[in-house]
Amino acid sequence: MSTNNIQSNKNIYTLATISEALECTSVPGVITLRLDTTIKVRTSEWRDCLLEIGESCAVKWIIHNSNKQPTDITAEEAKDSDIKMCFSQEYSCHHAGTYESKAAMRKNKCSALFHVRGFFKTPEWCEITLTKDHTEHTPGDVHEDMCTLPLAKKYLNELSQ
Ligand SMILES: [Zn+2]
Repeated sequence: MSTNNIQSNKNIYTLATISEALECTSVPGVITLRLDTTIKVRTSEWRDCLLEIGESCAVKWIIHNSNKQPTDITAEEAKDSDIKMCFSQEYSCHHAGTYESKAAMRKNKCSALFHVRGFFKTPEWCEITLTKDHTEHTPGDVHEDMCTLPLAKKYLNELSQ
């Protein structure tokens, strides 16, 4: 592995390091992104990181709002017109497992929001932020979340390593 880029990319997380950006919660074995803390993630890996965060945090993130700029804007044109963001997507929480029960989904009032933003100036990384915390449930809490399949899968992965 090349070490040349590691210094400058130190704070840019990849799928391999994303777990370092997560913190323990009150639920054993469940970790989370700290609320309102923006982290940088390598652009090519942010979708994988989102999945990994979902599994680690026992949360299923559902796309909520996508605000993609027209793709024919070049970085240069964007600069001229003072457009900084090349894309912005928001994900809302459907806590793990509720998609198996429509009734449970209707009851889900969780307002957690996960925000991904990419910028023309820094195409190599994008920013992800948990902008609103979970309400009405604690991710991964077996007493509240009926299904902990993502967590179980993660656990099995670790066992098989
Ligand atoms: Zn939630």
